[in-house]
Amino acid sequence: MKLSIQNHLLFHDGKQAPYRATPNRSGLMNPDTIIDHDTASNPLDSSGDIGWLTMPVAQASAHVVIDWRGGITQLAPFNVQCWHAGASKYGNRQNFNAFSIGIEHDNPGYLRKIGEGVYSGVCVIDTNKNPEFKVARVATREHGDHSWLAYSEQQIAASVALHAALKAAYPAINTVLGHYHICPGRKTDTNPLFPLSHMQAIVLGEAGALPVPVEAKPEPKSIVAPAKPSFVPDATVVADVLNLRGGPGIQFAVKGSIPFGTRIDVQEKDQLTNWLRIVTPFGATGYVHGGFVRLD
Ligand SMILES: [Zn+2]
Repeated sequence: MKLSIQNHLLFHDGKQAPYRATPNRSGLMNPDTIIDHDTASNPLDSSGDIGWLTMPVAQASAHVVIDWRGGITQLAPFNVQCWHAGASKYGNRQNFNAFSIGIEHDNPGYLRKIGEGVYSGVCVIDTNKNPEFKVARVATREHGDHSWLAYSEQQIAASVALHAALKAAYPAINTVLGHYHICPGRKTDTNPLFPLSHMQAIVLGEAGALPVPVEAKPEPKSIVAPAKPSFVPDATVVADVLNLRGGPGIQFAVKGSIPFGTRIDVQEKDQLTNWLRIVTPFGATGYVHGGFVRLD
């Protein structure tokens, strides 16, 4: 799919993408951030959430909705403030509606297993009836311990293309966050199966191949190093949760995650790519991206 942006409107293979104007918008802005969201709705019915986000009573909107089949509908020009972030704060910035583009992905949000292959949440997800549905149980500090519907391949492909097109149109964009980053405790979207770090790498111009899809991921295992390397902390993790990878790039598997504020020992830095080889306080070794670490 070839996406481009002209005059703050989305074009798909040279034709304007479907557009449904939302009244829920404010003044102009210069976006430097993308906030990724889930609609918390039935993935097979995108008309419902587009209808809602274009109704005045909703008092909510986003710039685009990406449906389950990868179709993208735009609701407002990308240089206009939409109402997707709500009361929001991350690092030293607040009120993210004033400088961010909101992308909604059709996804039900957290699910609860109610039978073999059947899950319930805002709707019933039956993997027996819909083999394209892949559900995985994942627990994170921000999301809690739930079952989650993996995004469809078309949806992720559309989202990847859109993040790249937005970066091309608005070079100031350098940050991609989930709604849960800016509204901790209140929001859990995007769900933990969304490749947020890949989207961040896209806007930094550092994206490699997409991460391994959820169903092919190995079970997480505890990180135990055979011989404990020396540990002399010289840096601090400044991401909410930082992925520790097996190699210097997001194409390498995630070995574990390191919480915000953890002191780590940087052993080697690639000046070109800004990937760091590190040791954690528990003796695990691996690679992290330097953008999420503050060196002493
Ligand atoms: Zn959201």
